[in-house]
Amino acid sequence: MERERVIIVRYCEIHLKGKNRGYFEKVFMNNLEKALTGIRHEMKKPSGRYIVEKFDEARTDEIIDRLRKVFGTHSLSAGYQVDAEMGAIYDTVRMVAPESGSFKVQANRGDKTFPLNSMQINAEIGGRLLKDKPGLCVDVHSPQSVICVDIRENGKALVFSEFVKGAGGMPVGTSGKGMLLLSGGIDSPVAGYMIAKRGMKLDAIHFHSYPYTNMQAREKVEDLARKLSVYTGGLILHVASVTHIQEAIHKNCPDEMMITLLRRFMMRIAERVSERVGAQCIVTGESLGQVASQTVEGMTSSNAVVRLLPVLRPLVGFDKTEIIERARMIGTYETSVLPYEDCCTVFLPKHPLIRPDLKKVVQAERKLDVEGLIAESLEGIEEVRI
Ligand code: ATP
Ligand code: MG
Repeated sequence: MERERVIIVRYCEIHLKGKNRGYFEKVFMNNLEKALTGIRHEMKKPSGRYIVEKFDEARTDEIIDRLRKVFGTHSLSAGYQVDAEMGAIYDTVRMVAPESGSFKVQANRGDKTFPLNSMQINAEIGGRLLKDKPGLCVDVHSPQSVICVDIRENGKALVFSEFVKGAGGMPVGTSGKGMLLLSGGIDSPVAGYMIAKRGMKLDAIHFHSYPYTNMQAREKVEDLARKLSVYTGGLILHVASVTHIQEAIHKNCPDEMMITLLRRFMMRIAERVSERVGAQCIVTGESLGQVASQTVEGMTSSNAVVRLLPVLRPLVGFDKTEIIERARMIGTYETSVLPYEDCCTVFLPKHPLIRPDLKKVVQAERKLDVEGLIAESLEGIEEVRI
């Protein structure tokens, strides 16, 4: 008997309604394929789900781990595909069924020409299992294991009983493109994750103050981008220097305005790069009141320089503990807490402005050649394909 290992992927159907369905499904399938780059396999799409076949069985767990991180995935099951014939089906059911505990069989007959209907399949297989495994009992309401038998239309049947939860959300690429301000901290990678989960493709931009900050800080950010890219299906990291800007602010403006003014430059540069690459919004990891600069006045001051794009702050209402929990879950936390600073701390004031007054900020900024400073950053910008 031929028994082939397969993986069944179910998607979050709620988002795939109406006219856009075909488009969503195509983007989702591309994203699944991309996640399996380097692993030999075939992917089929019979109605309502995807089936991965013809892969090396030893890589089953690895494939599931990659696919469950693709946004849009609701759940996955590793199972077997056999000829749609009761003898072969039952042998496989017996193999996947536990030795003891409660169970139910849940058959689904996609091929209506199959001689038994789903109730009859349930009864037949359930009855034989009870005889062969005396430790088992039937519980149709809340069984410890559900054994699914799915009669396909191609003369094959799927047998499976494990369910792995997927990342949920919407397929990346179905909600436009954003520019994530990625620092080396805990918050911004989580912000990127949350926005990508809503289906948005991301580029990221990182600002550094080399040589005040070191190469390890740079590597740390690339490492964070790499971890995030698992969920975003790759990303381009733009790396820009703000050393000259910090120096100019330090020389010409009140110390306590360093962060406020620097943030305005970051926003301006991010918007210029967004225009270049077609990003439609700016995404930051700010959360209201978390640190001195993240007040509503601080946000007013940095929003004021953005000409057109909306600034999305997906973490605005999150507590730090909630953000940390998510950072742990997505695997960025360990890297984020490495002790390398992203921007120069030499210039950071002891008492930053908590509620910057926009008029005074604009006034202070008049001492700077804003356009010249931005141009210098843009000229030296590097693109790293993650
Ligand atoms: P994070 O943990 O994301 O660094 P934070 O709590 O340290 O956040 P801030 O340092 O005030 O907060 O930064 C607020 C947001 O500004 C960050 O979440 C990020 O989106 C952006 N940002 C700050 N520094 C940088 C940087 N060096 N490069 C790119 N973006 C930055
Ligand atoms: Mg930070």
